Amino acid sequence: MRTDQDQPVRLADYQPPDWLVETVELDVSLHPTATRVRARLKVRPNPSARAAAPLTLDGDGLTLKSIKLDGRPLSADSFTATPDKLSIPQPPQRACLLEIETLVDPTANTQLTGLYRAGATYCTQCEAEGFRRITYFPDRPDVMAIYTTRIEAEKADAPVLLSNGNLVASGDVAGTTRHFAVWHDPFPKPSYLFALVGGALGHVEDAFVTMSGRNVALRIYVEPGKESRAGFAMDALKRAMRWDEQAFGREYDLDIFMIVAVSAFNMGAMENKGLNVFNDKYVLATPDTATDADYASIDAIIAHEYFHNWTGNRITCRDWFQLCLKEGLTVFRDQEYTADQRSRPVKRIADVRVLRAHQFVEDAGPLAHPVRPDTYREINNFYTPTVYEKGAEIVRMLKTLLGAQGFRKGMDLYFKRHDGHAATIEDFVGCFADATGIDLTQFMRWYRQAGTPEVAVTMSHDAKARTCTLALAQMLRPTPGQSVKEPMVIPLAIGLIAPDGHDIPLTLADGRAVERGVLVLSDPAETFVFTNVGTRPVASLNRAFSAPVKLTANLTPDDLHFLAAHDSDPFNRWQALQTLASTLLTDNVKALRAGNPMRTDGGLVAALGTILADPQVEPAFAAQALAVPSEADIARELGRDVDPDAIFTARVALRAELGNALGAALRDAYRRLSDGGTYSPDAASAGRRSLKNIALDLLAASGSSAAIALAARQYQSADNMTDRLAAVSTLSLYPVRERQAAIDDFYRRYQSDPLVIDKWFALQAAIPEPATLERVQELTRHPAFSLGNPNRVRSLVGAFTQMNQTQFNRPDGAGYAFLADTVLALDGKNPQVASRMMTAFRSWRALEAVRRARAEAELKRVAAAPSLSPDVRDIVERSLAET
Ligand SMILES: [Zn+2]
Repeated sequence: MRTDQDQPVRLADYQPPDWLVETVELDVSLHPTATRVRARLKVRPNPSARAAAPLTLDGDGLTLKSIKLDGRPLSADSFTATPDKLSIPQPPQRACLLEIETLVDPTANTQLTGLYRAGATYCTQCEAEGFRRITYFPDRPDVMAIYTTRIEAEKADAPVLLSNGNLVASGDVAGTTRHFAVWHDPFPKPSYLFALVGGALGHVEDAFVTMSGRNVALRIYVEPGKESRAGFAMDALKRAMRWDEQAFGREYDLDIFMIVAVSAFNMGAMENKGLNVFNDKYVLATPDTATDADYASIDAIIAHEYFHNWTGNRITCRDWFQLCLKEGLTVFRDQEYTADQRSRPVKRIADVRVLRAHQFVEDAGPLAHPVRPDTYREINNFYTPTVYEKGAEIVRMLKTLLGAQGFRKGMDLYFKRHDGHAATIEDFVGCFADATGIDLTQFMRWYRQAGTPEVAVTMSHDAKARTCTLALAQMLRPTPGQSVKEPMVIPLAIGLIAPDGHDIPLTLADGRAVERGVLVLSDPAETFVFTNVGTRPVASLNRAFSAPVKLTANLTPDDLHFLAAHDSDPFNRWQALQTLASTLLTDNVKALRAGNPMRTDGGLVAALGTILADPQVEPAFAAQALAVPSEADIARELGRDVDPDAIFTARVALRAELGNALGAALRDAYRRLSDGGTYSPDAASAGRRSLKNIALDLLAASGSSAAIALAARQYQSADNMTDRLAAVSTLSLYPVRERQAAIDDFYRRYQSDPLVIDKWFALQAAIPEPATLERVQELTRHPAFSLGNPNRVRSLVGAFTQMNQTQFNRPDGAGYAFLADTVLALDGKNPQVASRMMTAFRSWRALEAVRRARAEAELKRVAAAPSLSPDVRDIVERSLAET
């Protein structure tokens, strides 16, 4: 582990690499504790870099066994080697062959980066800086090389040996019990895309014919015995491959595409060239073990990693500051894939919920940073909602500004111009400017300025002049390191809706066109006047959430009800209801804190009742409408002086009101949607189940004992995990005898299945009761729990800190202390996961005074701990920094 105080890395200091690597030949001899890695690197000075530069390679915890240059061992005085660096001060200034032998211990590697063991399987994770834990290398994405990898292992331990590219040779090692495989990847790639797997694995196989008629073998490797759970992932892969051909003209390029599912993984999945390595949570699914949400995640993540083959691998990032170049773009691509495969409006609603819950919150707190940061201490801490989700929103805005055709032209130019290169954001945006002739200079501020823009809209109508005026103003608050902000380019898709429910044609008084219904706000304030508007319309603003902003407008409750009923944009129909609910909830939180009575909103309840009863409404949409803002949503809307107990109380009251007032309609919906037939994970079936289960949940929220009995029955009789987990989740909210019975039964049923036991941990961690912290602490000693497995940590500790607002934020600070203790215990083993857990403190400054002081004390306790990892130290110091 690196414990030195690393200097910050700055984008402004970027220099091209002094040395390039043309080819890498690796020979890896797998051993549980002493894996020998021989690397033969053809290196040459970079003609566009400094002259006569030393040859310096990165390392991380390495043991050098031998080193040769052009076939001759280097004398001890001609190089220096530490675990973290190998340097040859005066190398010959010409192409040469560097041979390095290192020894690594995969079993002792609990960080899960570099070469490690997931159970008995050897696997690698090299993004962002894991390759340097395998061998010394210029470990930066702008060094792209051709890799040939020979792997050798005991046949009995690792009958399957995989690496990037195509298999070119394999066989037994004569006179031993070992065997080998040689893989060659013809595409130049950065070291972070290297992968190697060795183990006893089963697999499923399929084939894909690309649009130009090439045959590609498809294989998904899993633990032996779990092959039958990989069918949906394989189906998703084939659909993703076809979609990328149709939507972006992108074809797969190797003879084989492989996915390996492993049980110990820091992230979701990794797009290594031709050999994706996945957290098995995002591969394995059967109706009895995976929920509809799990199936949807598998579909999206399989597609995401596959799409990286072009956006990330063929065109990679010049440096880690450009991370959003591959991640924002690829998230946008996977969102579009899902929208085409499932329901576009429901997908958009779900994505915006995620954006607001994670990215808006990050943007409003001490960890706010630009989509392209200009400095970092630990790059692993920048795999954030801002880089991913806001990065995707920026790409979406490009499409909104340029139109579908202009966007496609820009993408085509990007693929043509930069294939095989390590590119920058300027390269990417430049392609859209060049392809369409549109100036995107000001648009680049989206990459540079942190924070969520706030847009205020005032609509006025002049009946006599038959005009309607929209006055728009934008504001961006200061964020850490950025006290002064410049105006952004904000594309606002809008509509003006006449009293009969139809959109009025948008005709601007000054003759400017409103292309595709999108107003572009680029000044601090602008006014748009529309002509030929006889009666007062209702403005539908930021349709489909065309810009990732916080929007306020002078819409009355009646306007919002009108939008909920009539807007042709389904996103804004949903948004209108969310705005009504959110206003009610924040008003009630304030009332509770002032000792005043809460109010009700009969109009909101009636509007939700109308949606529930309308057979034309897509069930998945109705479920989104009935899902009232989460506790975290309400906290975000309040922004300061947050009291999680008051939020909880207000939200419980609204859910009870909905359950009571809509009881008959909810029971009717539950009955109507209960006869699903054989389980299928498709979007329409999943939508029906989500509406049925939210109906059950709201009925229980009304305090009805019949609903508790119904949930208990559904738990027992469910023929799929979605319905079973929904039932026990509803039961878990109430101190009823059926709750513990179901929790115990759940464990008995699924104890041999770690992924389902993750759900069992999360379920208990989320119970909103004072006894939960003790329960969670007890569960950390459960035999199925391990700090060494990221999925277990996320399911228990992550669920407690993220899903249980009242208990994590206990006024006595015990929830914060538990998290701090866990982070300190985990940091020595797995700093990446520890620092990720630590981000649960990201909104501590928004809390009311008592909790804020408790949180600050725990942050300071962690900051004072000896030998913190750079990962945790970075998060803690930024969290505590004065703004
Ligand atoms: Zn990605």
